[in-house]
Amino acid sequence: MEKKAQSEKIQTDTFLAQIGNHQNPVTGSINTPIYFSTTYEHPTLGESTGYDYTRTKNPTREVVESALAVLENGAVGLATSSGMSAVQLVFSQFPVGSQIVASRDLYGGSYRYFKELEKQGIYQFVYVDDEADFERAITNKTAAVFIETPTNPLMSEVSIEKIAIFTKRHNVQLIVDNTFYTPLIQRPLELGADIVLHSATKYLGGHNDLLAGVVITRSKEVGERLAYNLNTTGAVLSPFDSWLLIRGMKTLSLRMERHEKNAQAVVSYLKTSPYVKDVMYPGRGGMLSFKIKDQKMIKEFLRNLSIFTFAESLGGVESLITYPTTQTHADIPKELRESYGLTPDVLRISTGIEAGADLIADLKQAFESLK
Ligand SMILES: *Cc1c(COP(=O)(O)O)cnc(C)c1O
Repeated sequence: MEKKAQSEKIQTDTFLAQIGNHQNPVTGSINTPIYFSTTYEHPTLGESTGYDYTRTKNPTREVVESALAVLENGAVGLATSSGMSAVQLVFSQFPVGSQIVASRDLYGGSYRYFKELEKQGIYQFVYVDDEADFERAITNKTAAVFIETPTNPLMSEVSIEKIAIFTKRHNVQLIVDNTFYTPLIQRPLELGADIVLHSATKYLGGHNDLLAGVVITRSKEVGERLAYNLNTTGAVLSPFDSWLLIRGMKTLSLRMERHEKNAQAVVSYLKTSPYVKDVMYPGRGGMLSFKIKDQKMIKEFLRNLSIFTFAESLGGVESLITYPTTQTHADIPKELRESYGLTPDVLRISTGIEAGADLIADLKQAFESLK
């Protein structure tokens, strides 16, 4: 939904804590009510309260959608049933036969979806490693450039601003998956992107209890087109899940501070550990990866951990450790993965909001108990 004009300039922390407040003049409720009603009464023929049917528009979902538009500084925000349905929505707008240029080191699920689109003859994908190569990959059939920064799981940053210079010059859309950084660390639309999307399952929701996706567009026209497509195909976020997302987002800035502080502490420790070959951390956010000295240690190391949970996903209050080779990135062929550095010794960590000293102690004992 379109963002509401902010009557006064408030800081992001204040805005987040207040999502949904001051919006219910009838009851004064501080929390956003969950409107489960799927359909809405029409006052008379040809009139509407603004709400007709929940797939099209829902008052609870609308609160989170307009908050997202404000946070990413876009014109229109849309909430979808998962991060993948957000990706799918964004890709619903290009003509068949379009070419898409994408960064090589991608979330495995996006890569799988792109492979499927290609197999069905819908779009063609070209994968690029280096910033400078993006422009060379763009042809007159290119409809969009799709990037993740930092990349997943190798955590290298690409410059949205530099790539935006190319996409503007060639009049193609720049789409950024901003799941890892959130709008608190990086606002791609302000750096020249046209569309930003998130798996809100991760930091925005923040509690490992909600599957959700969001799309925010810079232009009203593109936003309206995507809103039309979303209403047509139907993968909207449910009222209850919209409420959970609002609830999660209220504490986003507190959580991000701790996620980042813990990541920095874990990185400092890992860099001194004799069991670690390489640490990959872009200096911001709560995600890091490292290479263990010997990949044969992985099974036992994971078993030795007692605070970190060996699980897929990221961005929740609990610290997780992932093995991309068999989990998040298993759908990317081995040769391809290894050609760009995603080798079988890479482990990925999402630091939670626990006490940093406990996280370090857990990693340390897990390494030292290796036989
Ligand atoms: C998890 C994730 C997705 C997919 O989101 P779901 O909510 O799991 O559907 C997309 N992009 C990135 C970077 C992710 O981490």
